[in-house]
Amino acid sequence: MKKKLAALFLCFLMLLLAGCGSGIKQEDYDALKATSDSLQSEKEMLESEITALQSEHGDLLNENTTLQSENTGLQSENATLQSENTDLQSEKKQLSADLQTKSSELVSVKDKYASYKKKMKPYEKAAKSEANQNDEKATAKSTPEPETSAPETETQPEAEPQMEYVEQVWIPNSGSKYHRDSSCSNMKSPTQVSISEAERMGYTPCKRCY
Ligand SMILES: [Zn+2]
Repeated sequence: MKKKLAALFLCFLMLLLAGCGSGIKQEDYDALKATSDSLQSEKEMLESEITALQSEHGDLLNENTTLQSENTGLQSENATLQSENTDLQSEKKQLSADLQTKSSELVSVKDKYASYKKKMKPYEKAAKSEANQNDEKATAKSTPEPETSAPETETQPEAEPQMEYVEQVWIPNSGSKYHRDSSCSNMKSPTQVSISEAERMGYTPCKRCY
């Protein structure tokens, strides 16, 4: 571009000189001079435009370099993140394997607990029925208590009356009934035994006093 303009300008100058040499008219000279000036100013404009474009080009090159280095940075960051991702994925795999192991362990523990509970069931039942029996005995023997007493204080005194108080009955020398009253049925010198003993010996309760 620059060279072309310079050549054009040279041509023009030569023409101008040639014109001068052959006794050119003043009008022609003025016209040529004006054209030359306008071309000169156009040339300067174009040159400054070129300079501007060149500096813009330099800026763009710089920007490109910056972007390329940025790109390199991002690529290395990407590589780092990808390796991190790989690590996390393997960690995740490990954790889910652990989870599976733990949950299968939990299932086996649950099974064990269930079978243990099954084994315990008869014992629990026995303990419960014993407790119920004790309750019944206690309520039968104890005088009515205030309702507010706690279950613990109710159950504790059970053992003692059971040991101390055994219902006594009278059995006759002959006969098959046991009596609450020693003078029932005109018994003569009856024997006092515990009610359980009387039943064990085959006596049944007298219908009059029981
Ligand atoms: Zn009787």
